[in-house]
Amino acid sequence: MNIPKVNVPRIVIVGGGFGGLNLARALSRKNIQVVLLDKHNYHTFQPLLYQVATAGLEPDSIAYPFRKIFKRQERFFFRLTDVESIDMKAKKVCTSIGELTYDYLVLATGSQTNFFGLEDVERHGMSMKEIPEALDIRSLILQNFERALLSNDLEEREALMNVIIVGGGPTGVELAGAISELRRHVLPQDYPDLDLRKMTIHLVEASPRLLVAMSEKASKKALEFLQKMDVQVWLNTFVENYDGYIAGANGGAKISGQTLIWAAGVQGNPVLGVPEDLKSKGNRILVDETNRFGPAEFAIGDAAQMTTEQFPYGHPMLAQVAMQQGKLLSKNIMSLIEGGNLKPFKYADRGSMATIGRNKAVVDLPKFKFQGAFAWFVWMFIHVIALIGFRNKLVVAFNWMYNYFRYARDIRLIIRPYVKK
Ligand SMILES: Cc1cc2nc3c(=O)[nH]c(=O)nc-3n(C[C@H](O)[C@H](O)[C@H](O)COP(=O)(O)OP(=O)(O)OC[C@H]3O[C@@H](n4cnc5c(N)ncnc54)[C@H](O)[C@@H]3O)c2cc1C
Repeated sequence: MNIPKVNVPRIVIVGGGFGGLNLARALSRKNIQVVLLDKHNYHTFQPLLYQVATAGLEPDSIAYPFRKIFKRQERFFFRLTDVESIDMKAKKVCTSIGELTYDYLVLATGSQTNFFGLEDVERHGMSMKEIPEALDIRSLILQNFERALLSNDLEEREALMNVIIVGGGPTGVELAGAISELRRHVLPQDYPDLDLRKMTIHLVEASPRLLVAMSEKASKKALEFLQKMDVQVWLNTFVENYDGYIAGANGGAKISGQTLIWAAGVQGNPVLGVPEDLKSKGNRILVDETNRFGPAEFAIGDAAQMTTEQFPYGHPMLAQVAMQQGKLLSKNIMSLIEGGNLKPFKYADRGSMATIGRNKAVVDLPKFKFQGAFAWFVWMFIHVIALIGFRNKLVVAFNWMYNYFRYARDIRLIIRPYVKK
């Protein structure tokens, strides 16, 4: 990998998501060698992936190159590679570009989509964890509309226009709202030959309410907003199969749609070599209260499960958890190197939010809960602030203003046609 062996400890971080990036940033100016390995050369701001999928934002505005973040830092190294496995005995990572030894290793590999064993859903459905997947969804929706124009079979036409979203968490709710806005403001102009009243957006959720991790009030309001936006919400319904055309659900429901987006579950994404008895049911790495799972090995963020009294199944898979764990671990690693004690992690919950559409969002803060237009502005402000890079903040803020006043989604482009595998 051409990384010099120097006389200071080497910390290898796998994954530059919210957790790994915060950790690497905090460590990169210390007197140690930091090596960041990621299969992408950029950090992805996942909370806005749904806007890329629905032609609201360019993909580049929610990504940021690692090399730019860490420029001019002598002891920092980035390598673009897929980490294949780790060998805890030999203290090394094995990657697609070679092996690398470490003094301390941090796995921050995030999560992967969990289809819960539904093979046909996995085969025919779309997931949205990375930018290329969000672009695939954008292409597929538009490609299906182009195909709908050519079809004389009314049933097929409807199925090509329909979108089925499975999972009523923030991602599902946000996607449903954004696609509903596309249907109202954009698609009728682009496809005047199609009867858009026949397009149905289905949002399918297995539990009795949307946004289960948020307050009852937020759930109720999100449902109300979506129903007003003419989204067909199916509660207490779980998809059992999907043939690429019809999704079959419990109770015998048949929901037709040739675009199915799976936002119903994630699981940990550990690399090979993590002992099996250190993996939870959700495939997350079981760590102690300092995020440690081996003498020199740590895991943070979505990839890690720290079981506490308050969080018996681990912390929620959220950006804030990953970032806070990354920050604390930077201090703990330095303390370990200097012979000090490690501090246990305590999650500071700053609240959660979801946006449904223009002037429609729900926000649960630890002390206040509010919904509607003000919540929407708060949601936008927080997301612009949280983005990495001045250019990205500017582009996203400008895009949102432009879209607000023009009711526009100008990036409805099929740059790279989606081909089902
Ligand atoms: C669509 C979507 C919307 C979301 N919305 C919100 C939200 O609104 N608010 C919120 O708090 N959270 C949200 N989340 C969750 C949040 O993004 C995650 O909790 C957070 O990204 C976890 O951070 P992480 O560092 O653990 O992992 P990630 O940010 O997922 O980063 C993992 C990194 O590891 C790299 N990687 C993985 N495997 C390998 C490998 N084998 N080799 C090399 N590199 C590898 C990946 O390329 C990636 O860069 C959302 C997630 C998704 C998918």
